[in-house]
Parts: sequence; C-alpha cells; structure tokens
Amino acid sequence: MRYLTAVFSALILMGSAALISVSSSAAKTPINAVATVGMVADAVRAIGGEHVKVDALMGTGIDPHSYRQTRSDVVKMGRSDVIFANGLYLEAQMEDLLLKLQERKPVFFIGEAIEPVKLEGSTAYSDRFDPHVWMSPTLWQGAVASVTQAFISMDPENEEDYQNNAVAYLAEIQELSEYGAKILKTVPKNRRVLVTAHDAFTYLGRDFDLEVVGIQGISTNSEAGLQRIEMLVKLLVDRKVTAVFVESSVSERNVRALVEGAAARGHTVEVGGELFSDAMGQSNTYEGTYIGMIDHNMTTVTRALGGEAPLQGMQGKLGAGH
Ligand SMILES: [Zn+2]
Repeated sequence: MRYLTAVFSALILMGSAALISVSSSAAKTPINAVATVGMVADAVRAIGGEHVKVDALMGTGIDPHSYRQTRSDVVKMGRSDVIFANGLYLEAQMEDLLLKLQERKPVFFIGEAIEPVKLEGSTAYSDRFDPHVWMSPTLWQGAVASVTQAFISMDPENEEDYQNNAVAYLAEIQELSEYGAKILKTVPKNRRVLVTAHDAFTYLGRDFDLEVVGIQGISTNSEAGLQRIEMLVKLLVDRKVTAVFVESSVSERNVRALVEGAAARGHTVEVGGELFSDAMGQSNTYEGTYIGMIDHNMTTVTRALGGEAPLQGMQGKLGAGH
C-alpha cells in the first residue's frame, strides 16, 4: 500500500512524464539472486521463475559444512540483489560473512523459517539445530514458503506469479513426500536401519520411520573414532543389516571400514548405493534437481533395504545404475 501511495503521489507531483520513470523503476527484474547450496537455488529458481536469475555457489559434490567462499563468490554476493542460504549453521564457514552482508542487502536463511519446534538438535553442536531440513519434503515446504514471501516483499508487482509458482512447486514436493511414504513402507521392519557416512538423514528417518545411524558426527570435519566403527559393525552384524550407503559430498572411507569390519565377522554388508546428502547431482540431470535428488535417495534406500520401488523412481526419470 505504501508503494502504491508513493506511485500515485509521484504521478500527481510530476505529471505524465513520471509515467515512464515509474514504470521503468518498477520493472527492475530479473532480480539477481545468489544461493549457497543447490537445494536452495532450486527453490529460488522454481519460485522466482522468469523474474529471477539465480547463481548457486556450491555445485555437486561440495560439502557445505566445510565450504569457505572464494574470491569470485564474494564478488557475486556483492553484486547480487538478494542472497538465499539454508542457515541453521549449515554454511558454518560462511555464516559470519552472510550476517555481515545482511547489514547491506536482503539475506534470507530459509531453513530458519521453519518453526523450531519441528527441528531436531544437531549431533555435532549442542546449541544448534540439525540443518539438513531438505531431507524431509514436508519440512522443506516451510523453507520454500519463505522464499515465496521473500520475493513478494522485494517485488510485490509480480506477487501473483510467485504465488502460482509456489503452488506448483509445493504440490510437486507434496507428491514426493507421498511417494516416499508409499515405497519406504515396503521395507521389512527388521531392516529399517539407514547407515550413512554422516548424520544428514535424521529428518528423512523421522518422516518415514527409519532408524538413522551416522558413521560420524554431523560435521564432516571430525574423524570417526575406531570405537564408534567397532560399535557400528556390531550393530550391522546383530541386526543383519545388509546395506550401508555412501554420500556424494562425503568421503566413503568410513563406510568401507564398516563393510570390511562386518566381513571380518563373517557378515556381508553391501554398499547400497550413493545418496545425495548435502549437494544435488550434476546440473542438467534429473538428480541435479531437488525433486530428483530426493527421489533418488528414497528409491535407492528402499530397493537396497529390500523394499519395493520402481527402478527409475517416482517419475521414471532416474538415471541408470540403481
Ligand atoms: Zn551435512
């Protein structure tokens, strides 16, 4: 309303010549957005549509817990109109810079828009929340909704487009959640244990009733202790768990240690496939989108743990090799 009032008073004061300047200043799209990780960039791209250009700083295979901005990242962020991050201390090495930039331009930490009561505690930092909120499609819907509000606040003229984009994207995420519930339900009860390289999958486990065990703490900076490996080997043997998973953005050394440890006790554990934890797949592939990334994870886990899911996933788009 304040905006409209300003437009009308400008028109009254300046006469018809003002028409041109008003309309050109209102059309300051596309908005130049920078996103930290791919999952956030995907949401920004989907909601922003034609009104937004988005540049993601971290590509496939990058670990956001340890990533530190490059000089060119700093330039991109400096030139951008708006920055979107996950927050919740995911971008641990960049947090200070992002907070500093927030004094000069809009910086949105979209994971922090989710109500804290819906979050779990971090296993790495006692005073932080678990930042891996995109692993739960329903939680992630809350983060996506905040992107919509961000664009509406920056560019109210195109509110209808942002709302329509949000409805479509949120519906796709809803479908993903329902697909996950349907297939993961088919995993036999005693095998519902998801062992992965780091604690990124807590929210997935919570949504779909899987016990989640990380081989190291939430931060990939800390080495897994021999004792912890030993304890996990015992769990795999005792529970007859037959698959553990590697992650695209984490070293698979610890996963291999488990497989070998179990083998030494006469129990065969396979690497059930590679999951996308903190980064999406290659750009221009289905796995390089948020929907494709999570579809891949749900489908891979279900099939490796003995459940039933279509080889090519929810939309028949998953690549070969599953
Ligand atoms: Zn992580």
